[in-house]
Amino acid sequence: MKTYRHIYFDLDRTLWDYDNNSAEALREIYDQYQLAPVFASFEAFHSAFAKYNDQLWEDFREGRVPKNELRIRRFGLTLEEFGRTDTELATQLNKSFLNVSPRKTRLLPGAIDILEYLRGKRYKLYIITNGFTHIQRLKTEGSGLSPYFERMFTSDNVSAHKPHREMFARAVTWGNARKADCLMVGDDLQVDIIGARNYGMDQVYYNPQQVPHNEKVTFEIKELSELKNIL
Ligand SMILES: [Mg+2]
Repeated sequence: MKTYRHIYFDLDRTLWDYDNNSAEALREIYDQYQLAPVFASFEAFHSAFAKYNDQLWEDFREGRVPKNELRIRRFGLTLEEFGRTDTELATQLNKSFLNVSPRKTRLLPGAIDILEYLRGKRYKLYIITNGFTHIQRLKTEGSGLSPYFERMFTSDNVSAHKPHREMFARAVTWGNARKADCLMVGDDLQVDIIGARNYGMDQVYYNPQQVPHNEKVTFEIKELSELKNIL
């Protein structure tokens, strides 16, 4: 087996529990802004937001939408779907969401345990994320992830984003690492795994729902603790 030394983790949905943390934040915002009359139910609000948020993140990655527009439009489109066109409210909702959500601290099962294990084995650990620096920093600091990592590479501070090879290349070069000693761990098949593969880095696809696919990946795990079989 190869001996890896530098381990690059994705943040959202790999270590930080994006789905539960944002659902909690959206619930608070839904109550605070008394959105019940606009949406049929919280679930309707939540699923519309999730749909536009995912879509706009993809647009951002493809360079079709700038990030500040992404943030407001995800709420603008969510409101419009329910017959309310209100840029002012969309802006307010986004501001509250950005304030509340990154301060949530739920992590994916076994996250701290595996980081303790890897630190104990003296691996160099990094985060490589498409999120925005100040937001991602709130997440890693609030949830206790920060102390485990040498550095967090974000699309802001690297001026590139996954799945593009520049993002991986800059992260690897920064640590004076050799590509062959590096391993990417992430939950997004296209962005994390195929991105790293195209760059020539080995990958661990964290696939907790066991979503079927036909891609050739170096390793695939269902639980973070399975990293102990690889590292
Ligand atoms: Mg992710």
